[in-house]
Amino acid sequence: MQLFLLAYPWDVADETLGPRLDRLAGEVGVTGLSVWAASPPVVALRAREVTPRVFQSRGGVFFQPGDRHYAGLRAQPIVSTWLRAGDPLKQVAQACASRTLELRTVVSGSAMGRLAERYPELSCRNLFGAESQQRTCLGNAEVQGLLLATCADLSTQFSPSAMVLADFAIGWSDARSDAFRCGPVLGPVEHLLLVTCFCGACVRSAEEAGIDAPGARRTAMRQLQTTLEQGTVEAKPSDEWLSGEPVLASYRRRQVQVLNSLLRRLADACRCPIVLDMTPEATGLASPESAVAATVITPIERSEQLGLAVKTGAPRNEIRLPAWWAMGSRGPQLVGLLPEAARLGIAAVTIDDYGAVPDATLNTLKQAVRFTRRTVSA
Ligand SMILES: [Zn+2]
Repeated sequence: MQLFLLAYPWDVADETLGPRLDRLAGEVGVTGLSVWAASPPVVALRAREVTPRVFQSRGGVFFQPGDRHYAGLRAQPIVSTWLRAGDPLKQVAQACASRTLELRTVVSGSAMGRLAERYPELSCRNLFGAESQQRTCLGNAEVQGLLLATCADLSTQFSPSAMVLADFAIGWSDARSDAFRCGPVLGPVEHLLLVTCFCGACVRSAEEAGIDAPGARRTAMRQLQTTLEQGTVEAKPSDEWLSGEPVLASYRRRQVQVLNSLLRRLADACRCPIVLDMTPEATGLASPESAVAATVITPIERSEQLGLAVKTGAPRNEIRLPAWWAMGSRGPQLVGLLPEAARLGIAAVTIDDYGAVPDATLNTLKQAVRFTRRTVSA
């Protein structure tokens, strides 16, 4: 079983990079780094005594784009202002290669920093036509073109062992943001309706497939309006409710098909395997249809959820654990969890994220790795 640390480039690409990687690879038993190459905005409180203690970034891409990949595209990659000079990702790639550590590059599919603000015409739109301030729509050909180019560029420049896709979903996610205000409390069904994208590209794609997109929108409007006026939340679980609304269900299914077809094109564009990180909104994608993403990462918050990771239908399953799993009194849980994951056939564990992992915690990781090796070989 492999062990990856998920990191933002500013947490690894500094003068201590070499010694840190020596320790991670040689002593702790980490097999690779997963480094954000294109991320959403982030505000991170860092565990180590480094400056700044709170790192703020509006996101974007953390490498110098190779222009030829983006020629002919209207939407262009937005380079993070953190990247003033130099090429930290190249530095990390070289340091990993010389220590036989795997390097994975992590790309946000729909929430790359500032893209939705700069290109509102490419944003997801909810049923009322409001554009997202966070998400561009992966159903839109221009957004697809930019993501394909970004992944091809990264594969060419850094030869990662895998391309990890996060936020690979279509949806008006603003309903989940802290800024979102709405009178009545919304239930799972109302959230599903509010998140469903009705941008021009999604509507067109549905209509081309013979789906009554205006009908799907009317269904969503009717249900949501009832809740907004009466404050009564639909009691059924969203899957059950949706199965009684076939037009809207087929409209949403079409979006999953669009994503699956994009995944196949991404697999062709990259010179490495695609790994799909199942951020909560991406759940529902791991159908047999998406088997092209040969690997799926399931985020695990509680040990009871471990079983979910082997039910994705993907040929290869991995898990992602928040950093606190490895910290303080919870350490023994991690030491117990890793062998259990290996027994279930989980191929890799990613710890999220390196910047929040204090150095002392690496000892716990080391123990967990040794215990797992002993258990697996016994
Ligand atoms: Zn859309």
